[in-house]
Amino acid sequence: MDLTLTPAEQAFRDELREWLSVHHPGPEPEDDSYGFEFRRKWQRELNSAGYAGLSWPHEYGGRGATLIEQAIFNEELVRADAPQPANVLGLVMGGPVVIHYGTPEQKERYLAPILSAEEIWCQGFSEPDSGSDLASLKTRAVRDGDRWVVNGQKVWTTLAHTAKWCMLLARTDQAVAKHKGLTYFLMDMEQEGVQVRPLRQITGESEFNELFLEDVRIPNENIVGGEGNGWNVAITTLAHERAGLAFSAAVAVRRALNELIALCRERGATDDPITRQRLAQLHVETENLRLNALRGLSAQMRTGVPGPEGSLPKWQWSDTNQALTELALDVLGEDGLRVGDQWTYRFLRARANSIEGGTTEILKNIIAERVLGLPRAARPSGDPPRPATTPIDAETTEVGAGR
Ligand SMILES: Cc1cc2nc3c(=O)[nH]c(=O)nc-3n(C[C@H](O)[C@H](O)[C@H](O)COP(=O)(O)OP(=O)(O)OC[C@H]3O[C@@H](n4cnc5c(N)ncnc54)[C@H](O)[C@@H]3O)c2cc1C
Repeated sequence: MDLTLTPAEQAFRDELREWLSVHHPGPEPEDDSYGFEFRRKWQRELNSAGYAGLSWPHEYGGRGATLIEQAIFNEELVRADAPQPANVLGLVMGGPVVIHYGTPEQKERYLAPILSAEEIWCQGFSEPDSGSDLASLKTRAVRDGDRWVVNGQKVWTTLAHTAKWCMLLARTDQAVAKHKGLTYFLMDMEQEGVQVRPLRQITGESEFNELFLEDVRIPNENIVGGEGNGWNVAITTLAHERAGLAFSAAVAVRRALNELIALCRERGATDDPITRQRLAQLHVETENLRLNALRGLSAQMRTGVPGPEGSLPKWQWSDTNQALTELALDVLGEDGLRVGDQWTYRFLRARANSIEGGTTEILKNIIAERVLGLPRAARPSGDPPRPATTPIDAETTEVGAGR
């Protein structure tokens, strides 16, 4: 792998740095609702400069940028401490999935409002009894002429309170194997029968929600990827989520580590040999994360689709970010108990890192079976171990839904 940027990539990075220095919107308001409108406005600005769907093809409103340019963009956004765009799930998952599986009419209808943040997207995969074992989900869709009637409950649905569209995974066939009976719908959130109830997190925020669906109607033309093909579409969605995360995560952790080193200096903690050792270990892990993000990128450039390698940086990111924020709280001592301290907030928010986007245990299973090709362990039911297949094992139903 050659890690040097080509002259064209360097020129792209310089142009972007220049643009960010002029258009950076300043610090994000702390209040949730203002913060959202602020990020929506910011996304519009990015979109008018062609940066919102950077790697999307030109014909769908993107810039046709290479994966390397997309990685540079993600890095530079974090480096400049610029806010995230408002429609993050639409940009990272919804759009790429519609581009991959959508009909010409779906591409025409959905892609432009994703880029402009006019229509926000959320992801309705997880249910109260189906997170890691996503294929066991119970939300049912029953055909009624040219529509489907949906009943069930979703949970942890990030951004459902602002979303217009939900990437909804529902069971349309009870008679076949559990991962074969699923269909991927685009559900209009602004209709009768869709009820959104906010859930409060340990940080005090409400990023996600419970979603109750009672006789919700979805037209047949809102199926993505065909009836009964929901499992494959869902796997593509999750692979895009993990791949999209790696680069910005690597830079964000590097920035946080630099801030932590400054904190340790300020508090005189750098003389303590154990703290020094923990900082050194964090440095190693952070560099490791960056290199593995590049490894995933190289694989994606070869195959054209994000593969199971994306699970490795997601796991490393959550471990490193949690260890980093734990060290910060150790250094802060009782000051870390203050409400509103940024390190306290980061420490609490980091608890979710090893759950959102697939739990660490599930990511380890994916890496063992689909990257390393190790055999699957015997199931509790007493099933014998089976050899793993790559890149996507259609029999594996534990994937863990998104964030
Ligand atoms: C901040 C945040 C945002 C989220 N946003 C969304 C969203 O927008 N949309 C959405 O659909 N979901 C979302 N989720 C849900 C998330 O994807 C699930 O919480 C996650 O997949 C785990 O599922 P679960 O909570 O049901 O836990 P479970 O699957 O019940 O797991 C419980 C524990 O058992 C372990 N475990 C389970 N199966 C195995 C196994 N086979 N081998 C080893 N260990 C195992 C898990 O690792 C975990 O430690 C979000 C979660 C968080 C924290």
